[in-house]
Amino acid sequence: MILPGIPEMVFVDLETTGATATRDRITEIGIVHVSARGVERFNQLIHPQARIPDFIARLTGITDEMVADAPSFEAVAGDLIDRLSGKLFIAHNARFDYGFLKNEFKRCGIDFRARVLCTVKLSQALFPDAPRHNLDALIERHGLVPSGRHRALADADLIFQFWEKLWPLFSAEVLQQTIATLTARPALPAQLDPDLPERIPEGHGVYIFYGENNLPLYVGKSNHLRKRVLSHFASDHARGKEMSLSMQVRRVDWIETGGEIAALLLESSLVKKLLPTHNQRLRRNKELCSWRVAPQLEPVPDGPNAAQAELVWARDLNLGAQPDLYGIFRSQRDAVEMLTEIARKESLCKVLLGLEKAAPGAACFGFQLKTCRGGCIGRERLALHHARLLMALSKLRLPAWPHRGPIGLREDLVVHVVDAWCYLGSASREDEIHSLLANGRPEFDLDIYKILRKAMRCLPTVAL
Ligand SMILES: [Zn+2]
Repeated sequence: MILPGIPEMVFVDLETTGATATRDRITEIGIVHVSARGVERFNQLIHPQARIPDFIARLTGITDEMVADAPSFEAVAGDLIDRLSGKLFIAHNARFDYGFLKNEFKRCGIDFRARVLCTVKLSQALFPDAPRHNLDALIERHGLVPSGRHRALADADLIFQFWEKLWPLFSAEVLQQTIATLTARPALPAQLDPDLPERIPEGHGVYIFYGENNLPLYVGKSNHLRKRVLSHFASDHARGKEMSLSMQVRRVDWIETGGEIAALLLESSLVKKLLPTHNQRLRRNKELCSWRVAPQLEPVPDGPNAAQAELVWARDLNLGAQPDLYGIFRSQRDAVEMLTEIARKESLCKVLLGLEKAAPGAACFGFQLKTCRGGCIGRERLALHHARLLMALSKLRLPAWPHRGPIGLREDLVVHVVDAWCYLGSASREDEIHSLLANGRPEFDLDIYKILRKAMRCLPTVAL
């Protein structure tokens, strides 16, 4: 049946020598062409210019002998372009079939493009409660009649049958609207490959925008790679920063990961390695610091006015493994600012915090302003001042590493190896874990620390 606005459709299925569109080749193409003139079926065996692996031959029934006399793709490319172009291209798992055809046409110097409708997505959209949407599930759910499975025309005919089954169930408006949504092409910067949306995977990963001369512009991560990448180019974002990114981008690259934590860790390391111009300015760890406050007030050799808080630097100590630390700051200025603010709010003594110097026996400046309760001159007991300081800082306390040693965080098929809030690397085999442990701990990194805090709440932990 024909929908208004879609005068011609081709239901397409391919058989191939394998699963990789850029490397494997087509052995058969089946097309069901539907137009106002009626339904026309077409099938063509194709010589793949390569051996057909045994297990593929067993699956499809297409053997080397069967294609021995078949034409090459190049020989039929002209005929196929006539059959396919200008029509709505419909396939089950359309990325697969469309990707293979694009690559075969590309080898012949033809840039094949089509408006593509995937019947997996169509089924998902129209039957959202159905648990599965593969061809076998569709056959069962809709009573389709296979004339042979895993041959091109037979499978193309099955998706055509599926299409025909939709008509009694949905109005033309619903179908039209659903198809319009599924085939809508996102607005892409003109300089990018229009097929980019089809090529980007949908799951977890990291993406990189490159500009002129392969200059890294931006590194990002997402749990929905394709959606996220395309959102950069969506028109409602087309202003300010996103606009300038859209205009500068020349190439988009991506790395799939097994999960979110892996993507976060990879993003963090790529931002530091590539220094993309559009990411927040590189966060250096060189100035990372924290306040150390002893849990008990110790008798101090420097006299009663000795500071109860000490600024400590990440580079000088084992920040991840050290107890009694409060807050992590990107600079001394940030650290002093925070403690000054706490002193003001809690009426703590700046001399006792080490923020101000006073002559022995002299009161601090704050005491005259009544913002210090006089710890500096013995009006407030030092132990009480110390206790109030600990209380004021309690929310900033850095949790000590809660494990005896390194641990593994299991995500998908990999283990992220972690020790004292430092990330040693990810491994998928036992020996890789051992070599990561042997390499030792990298310097403490605030971004990694934050990712690991999150990871330890959501991923299963194994002691290493
Ligand atoms: Zn004081």
